[in-house]
Amino acid sequence: MSPLRAFKAAKLKTPKLPPEVKAKVAQSVGKLRRFALHTVNEDYISQMQTLRQGACRRCGLCCKLVFECPFLQNLADGRSRCRIHGRKPDNCTFFPIDERDLQDRDSLGAQVPCGFSFRKA
Ligand code: SF4
Repeated sequence: MSPLRAFKAAKLKTPKLPPEVKAKVAQSVGKLRRFALHTVNEDYISQMQTLRQGACRRCGLCCKLVFECPFLQNLADGRSRCRIHGRKPDNCTFFPIDERDLQDRDSLGAQVPCGFSFRKA
């Protein structure tokens, strides 16, 4: 059997993941992607910042990707606040970097959209 056929056969035997596990995996990949972009590709982030429009609505969903951030405070009026807002990491400050981040965020609740969107380049 060729290596390609063996790979395809092995892939077919992989059990399907439950949707909630798939979503967590996708969110984890997004977190790693954002971290990598902040580490090695700040030019891309700067470019995307010029296309980003809108403002944060303080829904707090981006703070719940993979796990709920311990610094997130859920307020009685339904909004949220960050307890370390002035010192939060770049992954939080520049969220969303691009449309892929909005898709990750929407996996937690697309009923109310993020306050940010992106103009086409
Ligand atoms: S998901 Fe968007 S609107 Fe909600 S807290 Fe994050 S940046 Fe703000």
